Amino acid sequence: MLKEINNVFQDFIFLLFPEYCYACQESLVKGENIICTTCRIKLPYTNVHLLDKTDNVLLHRFFGKVPVKQALAYLYFRRSGRVQHLLHALKYKGVQEIGELLGNWYGRQLRETAFNTELDLILPVPLHRIKKQKRGYNQSDSFARGLSTTLEVPWHDQVLIRQKNTSSQTNKSRPERWENVAEVFKVAKPDLVVDKRILIVDDVLTTGATLEACVLIVLQAGAKEVSIATIAAA
Ligand SMILES: [Zn+2]
Repeated sequence: MLKEINNVFQDFIFLLFPEYCYACQESLVKGENIICTTCRIKLPYTNVHLLDKTDNVLLHRFFGKVPVKQALAYLYFRRSGRVQHLLHALKYKGVQEIGELLGNWYGRQLRETAFNTELDLILPVPLHRIKKQKRGYNQSDSFARGLSTTLEVPWHDQVLIRQKNTSSQTNKSRPERWENVAEVFKVAKPDLVVDKRILIVDDVLTTGATLEACVLIVLQAGAKEVSIATIAAA
């Protein structure tokens, strides 16, 4: 009886406050959460985790720059598409559940390829303290948390630190960037990184400059090997 009343109450709440899919803006039906079933089917999955590493074009972006063990992105980023809507809501509207949900789904897929057995620790690309305070959260943390749950690999948000509040590094030449890396990022707890297999995660992979810097600093701190994973790749 109590359960029935509870269900009726939930239906009533749903009527009063209809929820919308964050990817397509259509209203969700009962049982759907954050992302509708149609979008879940139609999202542009990269499936690069199923490819041979020599065929993974995301991994190619790091060739000759830093040694990256595996480069993964769950979705393709297309301007004005579903993925852009999701990332916008995650980054600017405080909907951290999006990152966690996508992390959960992706983690489950990666587990099937036994990717979790290649990892010891997940580290989100950090925001500078002031930027994080302003936004209230780091959009990469929720993705790390979601991946961590289903991969059953721990994550930590105080290991990799951004100590300089810079704008983009993309305008700098590579040698300049490399000198800059140690000023921008820091491994605050090197003992957790030494000889470990690390996965660095971020929301979007574009030029790869930020991830490249993070990979470098974590390797310099003594990591055994480093992989990267993002929600989307542009
Ligand atoms: Zn949808």
